[in-house]
Amino acid sequence: MQQTNEVNWQAIREDFPILREQIHGKPLIYFDSAATSQKPCAVLGALQHYYEHDNANVHRGLHGLSTRATEAYEAARAKVAKYLNAPNVDEITFTRGTTESINLVANTWGVKFLREGDVILLTEMEHHSNLVPWQLLAERTGARLRFVPVQEDGTLALGALDSLLTPEVKLFAFTHISNSLGTINPVADLCSAARAVGAVSLVDAAQSAGHLPVDVQAMGCDFLALSGHKMCAPTGIGALYGRAELLEAMPPWHGGGEMILSVQFERSTFKKAPGKFEAGTPNIAGAVGLGAAIDYLENIGRAAIFEHDTKLATYAHRRLEELPGVRVLGPQERGGLVGFVMEAAHPHDLTTYADQYGLALRGGHHCTQPLMRKLGLPGTTRASFYFYNTMEEIDRMMEILENAVRFFA
Ligand code: PLP
Repeated sequence: MQQTNEVNWQAIREDFPILREQIHGKPLIYFDSAATSQKPCAVLGALQHYYEHDNANVHRGLHGLSTRATEAYEAARAKVAKYLNAPNVDEITFTRGTTESINLVANTWGVKFLREGDVILLTEMEHHSNLVPWQLLAERTGARLRFVPVQEDGTLALGALDSLLTPEVKLFAFTHISNSLGTINPVADLCSAARAVGAVSLVDAAQSAGHLPVDVQAMGCDFLALSGHKMCAPTGIGALYGRAELLEAMPPWHGGGEMILSVQFERSTFKKAPGKFEAGTPNIAGAVGLGAAIDYLENIGRAAIFEHDTKLATYAHRRLEELPGVRVLGPQERGGLVGFVMEAAHPHDLTTYADQYGLALRGGHHCTQPLMRKLGLPGTTRASFYFYNTMEEIDRMMEILENAVRFFA
């Protein structure tokens, strides 16, 4: 395939040992990176190096190894801040991932500032992670939920924003890239629309942070949530960016060690952000792994990654549309994934069929049940790509799917 920005994509595949695996005796074709990405040797090596040379608990030790662990952990925070162009490193809180980041905002900012009658504006394409925490918050505070509709073509009905973004809206939370449709939302415009009515904005960057340049200042967002495991880092580590002024006003969520300044029997005082949000021993190795993943992605270049991903997705979209009885969801201009339905086969049956040939697809509601219900679908089959995938793998997927059309007919 065509080389993008001089990156040797074939050589990059060699960085991912798992891509040499066989599944049911066939070479693995991994098209499930939207669920979780694979990990390069650079990240695996960073984890091993950390445990072999630097492992200790952070912040509270006065010995040399603890200092090293603390430095490695805080260096990873600085990498996340730089990666997101956050003005201040203290605006980055380590979490377990996007889900925990969003729950943190709901349980701190949300509980403190939302009242009965306030409105939380979401979109109809949100992952359950950016829906259920707000439902729980609404039940607790008496706030109401409102949704920006998804149109036939898989884009948001932006024309409805004027009537939806009323002064009662206190929070507007939306995904950057839809994990079901592939739609890339105009996040900077959405953040500025939120700001115009005095609402706080939250961007779910689970599907975007590892795939394209994400700049919180250019976006103008108040909060942004990401998951390390979808961007080459280990599972169990993620981050929340929050604007300093907002973080300062937010109470802690989890209580325990690490997050306190002083504890008495009756009450405690807390560190400034991000310390006050990181109770207990953090995922130190995970943070180190996330730092290594960021170095790895930056070395390739996010613009090149995005170009490669979208080239694959656009090609897959075109080829899938040529298949009889197959319908592709979402707009032409998309992130690196394609959701589709095959008339003859339930998504679970189709993914099970594909698995026999070593092809890892995902079938189901993709944690967007309300969206699937609105589309009148039991689910979809999703092929999601990353920079280690190739056009040849898509060609192989198409052969398997062409056979599936005949098999299920
Ligand atoms: N938001 C979107 C758009 C996602 O695709 C996902 C995961 O698939 C999440 C949130 C949740 O991410 P995690 O399970 O890593 O917290």
